[in-house]
Amino acid sequence: MLQLPGMALAFASPLPPALTRVLDREVLVSLGQFGRWGRFVRPVHLKIAADPAMLRGAALLPTALDLRGLCRGDDVWVLDPAAWPDPPTDRELADLLLHELAHAMWNQSTAPAAGVAPVTPPTWFREGFAVVVAEGAPPAAARRAIDGATLAHAAYADDAAIVNLGPVAYTAAAVAFDAWIARFGRRGLAALQRGLRAGKSFGRAFESSCATTDRAFIDDLCKRV
Ligand SMILES: [Zn+2]
Repeated sequence: MLQLPGMALAFASPLPPALTRVLDREVLVSLGQFGRWGRFVRPVHLKIAADPAMLRGAALLPTALDLRGLCRGDDVWVLDPAAWPDPPTDRELADLLLHELAHAMWNQSTAPAAGVAPVTPPTWFREGFAVVVAEGAPPAAARRAIDGATLAHAAYADDAAIVNLGPVAYTAAAVAFDAWIARFGRRGLAALQRGLRAGKSFGRAFESSCATTDRAFIDDLCKRV
């Protein structure tokens, strides 16, 4: 078990050296920012996939995504850096870990009572939250690259559509989430998380904390970006 700022990381076997290095440096520094966005209430289990097939096997459903990592409940899976087609830089590895840890924090911040199935937010919110928590608000150049048509495509994209869109899907999600947090703030975020913990669907929790539907919010944003 490794104690990090605001969270504990559990792992069963020794970590690859590159992962230990980024945990000790980049991840340690950036995790300090996570507390603004939610909270970890249980240890996160870090699991290493020896190859892409093992990683795909850890996903809940078959996926078209070319995965390097994924998060399922309290488990964060990372593809062994030795098995990446191009060896990752420490920055890439840290960003991946932080992204998956952000998903884990979301899961723990919104988990309903035992026996109630957790809900998965739509792509724009789920991935936008993870990107913004892990990397901060999207830079101006990235923002300018997102127009209304791209955002409309990306906001509710399934895995196959995310593959077609490429990295822009994540940028569009981050732009949308950033616009959402600018409008509804931490109170909106806390209210939404409370609603999900109470067992509401994403749509209902969104509506009661934002006084609009998530579709209406995205439709309006598509006209303004
Ligand atoms: Zn993600």
